[in-house]
Amino acid sequence: MKVLVVNCGSSSVKYALFEMDGEKKLAWGIVECIGLPSAYYKMQTMNTEEKKEVVEITNHTEAVDLIIKELLDKNVGIIADINEIAVVGHRIVHGGDKFSRSVLVTENVKKDLEGCFSIAPLHTHAHYAGILAVERKLPNIPSVLVFDTAFYQTMPDYAYMYALPYEFYEKDHIRKYGFHGTSHNYVAQRSAAMLEKSLMELNLVTSHLGNGSSITAIEKGKVIDTSMGFTPLQGVVMGTRCGDIDPAIIAYLLDEYPQYRNGAALNDLMNKKSGLAGISGLSGDMRTIIKSANEGVKKAILAFEMLVYSIKKYISAYYGILNGIDGLVFTAGIGENSAPVREAVCKNLNILGIEIDEKKNNEDSNKERFISTDNSKVKVMVIPTNEELMIARESKMVLTSMS
Ligand code: ADP
Repeated sequence: MKVLVVNCGSSSVKYALFEMDGEKKLAWGIVECIGLPSAYYKMQTMNTEEKKEVVEITNHTEAVDLIIKELLDKNVGIIADINEIAVVGHRIVHGGDKFSRSVLVTENVKKDLEGCFSIAPLHTHAHYAGILAVERKLPNIPSVLVFDTAFYQTMPDYAYMYALPYEFYEKDHIRKYGFHGTSHNYVAQRSAAMLEKSLMELNLVTSHLGNGSSITAIEKGKVIDTSMGFTPLQGVVMGTRCGDIDPAIIAYLLDEYPQYRNGAALNDLMNKKSGLAGISGLSGDMRTIIKSANEGVKKAILAFEMLVYSIKKYISAYYGILNGIDGLVFTAGIGENSAPVREAVCKNLNILGIEIDEKKNNEDSNKERFISTDNSKVKVMVIPTNEELMIARESKMVLTSMS
């Protein structure tokens, strides 16, 4: 069975085509900068090198048309007929409180998705455009929506509620939703396989540390809490996002700075100009921060320490909430690649039974692996995330459960 995974952002469409028999990734690529003169298309297949072309693409429909045309290209040789694609899986960042699992696209599902426009306008409009574009181009092929937020629907109300007047929850659906769920779900499943146990027997803390970062507490397969909230701004210090701050700072900025008297400007400040970039004044890229910190740049050292400290706080809190954990997982750009961050995060957590092995931690590998000492009570793992494969699996599962 072949599954096409699409991930529509506001100005991009990423895709990957999987053969589920053996879970092989056949082709993948991106149409980027849609609607701009700089729009381009990149494609790679398991048999061919990356190809990149500047293209004129003004909307998501044209992007999907181009992707399908390329997949059918005889010279590329990936698929001969469009009907070889059994199902299309769409990544959806925000499913609000409507969607607790992946669903087949129907007219009712599309209506429910429209209900998410107000809480995640940028993402949801782009996803919606992608769904319509796929429907138009592939009218006979079913589509499945896979939500980043679905994994978090098991959170108890006392964890997902904010202590604001209750009416804001009722009227505006203001609550914690959680993000990166597809990634946390994937690495949780992989860690159970590595530990040779069922997920139902394990307590885990999973740390997705990328440009955006989130930490999730999972008790016997069910999420109890996660660091991101109503939006992906809450939680640990990130590349350009501030993470947790005293909310009264926002009221202060509103009162004191005329330029921050609107939501867009405040969002821009907190989402794009803060975090590692804001503190260091250099960059939101962890590699630059580590390099500068090693050269003794004080603000880079501070940014590094703040990020590490905020991660440690969540891990320690979730350890307590779960009454102990069996596994701690690191994933995403920083989690998978940065031995110094993993080392600093795990340092002095031996009180929790977390001990990493220096040699294993520094091993240059892109494979999933244990990095804890043999005696460490908590098994610490590095697991490369694979959100696309998870979406492909979910889409296949929804499709097969219908037949
Ligand atoms: P996104 O959240 O955009 O998907 P990624 O998961 O790709 O991001 O993570 C990007 C982050 O990973 C960047 O901060 C980058 O600097 C960091 N990163 C990638 N490789 C390394 C490395 N070898 N050492 C430290 N940080 C790294």
